[in-house]
Amino acid sequence: MADQKFVLAGVMGWPVAHSRSPVIHNHWIAQHGLRGAYVLLPVQPDHFEAAIRGLPALGFAGCNVTIPHKVNAMKMMDHVDPVAKAMGAINTIVVQADGALHGFNNDGFGYIQSLRDAQPDWRADAGPALVLGAGGAARAIVLSLLNEGAPEVRLVNRTREKAQALADEFGARVKVLDWAERNDAMAGVALLVNTTNQGMHGQPDLEVKLDALPATALVSDAIYIPLETSFLKTARERGHTTVNGLGMLLNQARPAFKAWFGVMPEITPALRQAIAATF
Ligand code: NAP
Repeated sequence: MADQKFVLAGVMGWPVAHSRSPVIHNHWIAQHGLRGAYVLLPVQPDHFEAAIRGLPALGFAGCNVTIPHKVNAMKMMDHVDPVAKAMGAINTIVVQADGALHGFNNDGFGYIQSLRDAQPDWRADAGPALVLGAGGAARAIVLSLLNEGAPEVRLVNRTREKAQALADEFGARVKVLDWAERNDAMAGVALLVNTTNQGMHGQPDLEVKLDALPATALVSDAIYIPLETSFLKTARERGHTTVNGLGMLLNQARPAFKAWFGVMPEITPALRQAIAATF
């Protein structure tokens, strides 16, 4: 242990004080008895490139990047993983032995894994999915559903043009509908997911009616504050299996931790408890 290298990682954002990532990674560092630390890196946009370039010199194994740097960071990488390239954003940087910077995006992995944690036999090809919203979270979720074999992704966004732009990029399996059609669009879907910010702490509840949703549909929300949005509560009371956004957040951290610290960590009840205590 004494000669074990001290491994540094962190999350770069502006602002970044609200991030739960230090709780997650420092929990795993302690659990596995590793020497290392995961720190907050508040870096304003003007200093972002200098900060990124400084990672190898500082001896960092890598870092997460978050708002507002996720898109910008791509062009500073020596190599971008194909999934991240398709998403148009990275959330993880891994510093290679020679100092090269490799960029990844694990949000889609995190989302799919969160569904499997809730329903181990879940399959993307079980039927159409309906995705509400077309922002950053939707990009990751839609792409990962397509990559997993979803036959059709119905995409509904308040601003239709944004959904259309995403469909134009991701191909014919993405079908764009008007925001006003969101309730009817639930007919026949196997998965319903909210990726809008509606229902998040400080925002009004998502306005939807679940009457047309098949009883067997899995219902998920990217939001994790609160852990149960009124949308998920309504779905749960209707008998649906529901998945909140915490699983996506926790699972996206796992491959990053593995890349930096060499151990694929697990999501334990103790970790969920440690995170819940911060809300
Ligand atoms: P974003 O890029 O800003 O997108 C926001 C989305 O919400 C857009 O589709 C926007 O529609 C929609 N929206 C905003 N106000 C609305 C309203 N009044 N009515 C209907 N739709 C409205 O944000 P994001 O990064 O995708 O994040 C979205 C949510 O996902 C947030 O709650 C965030 O916390 C959560 N999230 C969770 C994770 C996780 O790991 N669990 C990861 C990322 C994000 P317009 O295009 O019409 O504006």
